[in-house]
Amino acid sequence: MPELPEVESAVQRLRAATVGKTIAKIALLHPALARRISPSRLRSLRGARIADVVRRGKHQLVLLDDGRTLHAHFRMTGDWVLGRESDALPRFARASIAFTDGSRAVLDDPRMLSTLDLHPRGAPLELGLGPEPSDQSLTPDALHAALARRRGPIKPVMLDQRVIAGLGNIYAAEALWHAKISPRRRASAVSLSDARALLAAIRKVIKAATGARYTDDSVVRLAVYDRAGKPCRRCRTPIERITQAGRSTYFCPNCQRR
Ligand SMILES: [Zn+2]
Repeated sequence: MPELPEVESAVQRLRAATVGKTIAKIALLHPALARRISPSRLRSLRGARIADVVRRGKHQLVLLDDGRTLHAHFRMTGDWVLGRESDALPRFARASIAFTDGSRAVLDDPRMLSTLDLHPRGAPLELGLGPEPSDQSLTPDALHAALARRRGPIKPVMLDQRVIAGLGNIYAAEALWHAKISPRRRASAVSLSDARALLAAIRKVIKAATGARYTDDSVVRLAVYDRAGKPCRRCRTPIERITQAGRSTYFCPNCQRR
């Protein structure tokens, strides 16, 4: 599943390929996407120019010069294939954005869980997101206060996008390992000094992964994720896997005791 660093990479690629270009035609190639934007609204996108492409959490916002926003979310397996309109369509092409210069951005998604929406000009985007890991407003005190208000263990709380935008299952586990905090620790019982260590660890793992196209052990060397039974990279204790809120959590039972 694309996580924040992968979505950031996708946004950077899309921005570099499309900003300043004028839309010639958008085609929605899958019924699930076609239901989200009517044919007349699709046609109204002709002639719109891409002003910027930005990321908020795992959302991708294509800002148009007329004030409207094309809003993409990859969910599980989406990606952009950037090329020319004359190129063959990729096998799982779900939407195609053609530009007047002959270039094209294709939303490719084998599982077809990606979404594409069009927001009107002036409509505030309510994405229900907390601060980004990189936000200056996210201080150790602010994180400590946000955790203190939550029930349940820390790991599922870290996946709540209202607490931190963009953090997913892989990097939550990785950050807890770096901060030596047990994923089973109650969120409300995390101390201020542990919140400081956790915030530093979140920033470290996100920064280390940025630039990778997909989360992949060959690209980003993961410390605990998907390493059940393998030795901890710090103390050699076998990594354990548990299930929390329906998701796998990997941790070292020896060095994540806080
Ligand atoms: Zn360990």
